[in-house]
Amino acid sequence: MERVAKKIKINDSNICINVVGAGLAGCEAANYIANKGYIVNLFEMKPQEFTRAHKSTDYCELICSNSFKNKSITSATGLLKQELIRIGSLILKCAYDNELPAGSALAVDRDNFSKQVTYSIKSNPNINIVTKRVNSIDELIVNDSTYTIICSGPLTTDNLADSIMSTIGDNNLYFYDAIAPTLQFDEIDFNYAYMASRYSSEDKSYINCPLTKEDYDKFYNFLVSAETVKLKKFEEQKVFEGCMPVEVLAKRGYDSLRYGPMKPVGLTNPHTNSKDYAVIQLRQDNLKASIYNMVGFQTNLTFPMQQQLLKYIPALKNCKILRFGVMHRNTYLDSPNILNKFFQMKSNKNVFFGGQITGVEGYLPSTASGLVAAINCIKEIRGKNKVDFSSSTVIGSLQNYISTPPIKKFLPMNANYGIMTPLPENIRNKTKKYEEYSKRSLEVLEKIISDYEI
Ligand SMILES: Cc1cc2nc3c(=O)[nH]c(=O)nc-3n(C[C@H](O)[C@H](O)[C@H](O)COP(=O)(O)OP(=O)(O)OC[C@H]3O[C@@H](n4cnc5c(N)ncnc54)[C@H](O)[C@@H]3O)c2cc1C
Repeated sequence: MERVAKKIKINDSNICINVVGAGLAGCEAANYIANKGYIVNLFEMKPQEFTRAHKSTDYCELICSNSFKNKSITSATGLLKQELIRIGSLILKCAYDNELPAGSALAVDRDNFSKQVTYSIKSNPNINIVTKRVNSIDELIVNDSTYTIICSGPLTTDNLADSIMSTIGDNNLYFYDAIAPTLQFDEIDFNYAYMASRYSSEDKSYINCPLTKEDYDKFYNFLVSAETVKLKKFEEQKVFEGCMPVEVLAKRGYDSLRYGPMKPVGLTNPHTNSKDYAVIQLRQDNLKASIYNMVGFQTNLTFPMQQQLLKYIPALKNCKILRFGVMHRNTYLDSPNILNKFFQMKSNKNVFFGGQITGVEGYLPSTASGLVAAINCIKEIRGKNKVDFSSSTVIGSLQNYISTPPIKKFLPMNANYGIMTPLPENIRNKTKKYEEYSKRSLEVLEKIISDYEI
């Protein structure tokens, strides 16, 4: 491989920093490093080659929705925006510069957004663009003074994925998401729900959400007619044979769910002292038991349809979905095994990962992880303490999420309050409660920014 820039303006002429992928995470990372005075090689294969979803020659392509979600400071995604602004995020600046009217959401003109990011990156004198497909980690790790941040995204090319797998082990890289929606414990209505397990009266591990026949009829009719996401060609069904979307199962017949994931077998409802007609079970999703997932509910319903479906389940009618169900191609690491909370490989301090490949989910969490990886890469180079933003902030709770061993399989996660440290006291008014989360987060963040000179 031809190495283009090894110079560093600040303190060490031997240091070489590489970033792979000029998506959201990679551009954010390269921009941060360059603005700290270092020369950074940004490897991007576009426009020579494209993944199966990317089409534009510009960087930071938003391959699906043009929305960065809620702006309100009383939502976790809104708070994440405020945190990123305070750390000087290039992506968020360009997003606001290209904002379109979309109520409380930050929607952008995707083409102009990408053009602005691309211009900023290409005109930064410290960023050296290398247009090529990276095929192996070894190409980029030549000695102890070479640092690499891999931000090649959910559609990382096969050869690079193979190389990552041979470095970390076959079982530590996943290729598909088949995720059921997750919910916040304190929004579940226990006037309907109850804790019990099918197979043991002692075991209370599951939350059971009962449906009467009348409830089930309404639920079923909505489910079989609800809109689903159109899969891209490369995501079509073959890969999901063993893991059927709940709506596909439902379409096989009225009772198929009642004999499958919604079977009421082994459960007696303590509110009615009788068997339920159908039951949706929720399984604990994090150690704090603040998040639960819907067992057997992997789905391709659109996000608004998933949210609407909850209205037909009495125990869940007030829940806001934390992480929506998806079934799509997504290359991501088993990060708790591979990375520490600084997005740095446990087995190689010179290699960092950023973006969706680390198991964060969505445009902004990907941006945030690229930024955190870059901040900590610079700390590593300078021999300074690395930065844990702490779970009082959204950024820090993503750091902690990807580095904490899960109860079961590690699954990608977006920004939400369920992964943050709860407030010391329970505030019943939701707006007040989320204002408190924001206040706490921004105070903690300001101190960290100043203490660590970010
Ligand atoms: C089909 C699909 C739809 C999605 N829809 C949404 C959505 O609506 N909203 C949302 O928030 N998130 C969505 N996501 C997730 C979304 O991809 C991420 O949130 C975000 O793009 C991740 O940013 P990233 O920087 O990690 O990766 P990307 O933005 O994908 O950037 C990765 C970059 O790396 C480059 N690259 C890959 N391999 C190599 C290589 N070997 N050498 C050199 N360059 C390479 C790619 O060309 C690309 O430019 C979707 C994902 C998929 C797969």
